[in-house]
Amino acid sequence: MSSASVLRAVGGEIAAFLLGASCAGCDAPGQLLCASCRLELAPAAREHVTPAGLRVHAALGYDGVAARCIRRLKSDGETHLARPLGAALAAVLVPAVSPSTWIVPVPTSRSAFRRRGYRVPELLVRRAGLAPQSVLSLVARPADQRGLGIEDRAANVHAAMRARGAGGGAEAVLVDDVVTTGATLDEASRALRAGGFRVVSAMALAATPRRDRF
Ligand SMILES: [Zn+2]
Repeated sequence: MSSASVLRAVGGEIAAFLLGASCAGCDAPGQLLCASCRLELAPAAREHVTPAGLRVHAALGYDGVAARCIRRLKSDGETHLARPLGAALAAVLVPAVSPSTWIVPVPTSRSAFRRRGYRVPELLVRRAGLAPQSVLSLVARPADQRGLGIEDRAANVHAAMRARGAGGGAEAVLVDDVVTTGATLDEASRALRAGGFRVVSAMALAATPRRDRF
């Protein structure tokens, strides 16, 4: 096949892909993410405090277009969304790190990795333009956190993680995709501190809206 016909074939596939595509945020046809949904992913930083008192900086609220895009990245394999979502994460993550900071994604289960073929927090850090250091691993297999209350979530993940290697007092920033109560980030922070790291902050792409304030 000549290079021109290869290009035509590839162009045809891209066109077919785009014709069948719809916006991840609002289902508008013909594009993967429309301009107005892209605007909805502009970072609007907010703070969340975990049960153990760790302050988490989140770039987005986990609702509306942002929640739909994150669900599609996590559950539907739409990895192209990691780029605009990673850009939002960068807004809170980049100012919080120095060249010596370890950027540590919260570990994901082996079964989730097998299902998806990628680790969402790690991918988001890469798309934020930074290098993740995956020093945390899961040593226990916690049950799905969905449907559990604050205390049950903390008990479910307690002692579930371990840091590989020795931190030697190095500064670490934790990164997760979505923070709900923060029990997972608390456990990640405990494991990092037990491994000799100094956890200076925690970041999340999105925080679920607090419903207990009103
Ligand atoms: Zn849209």
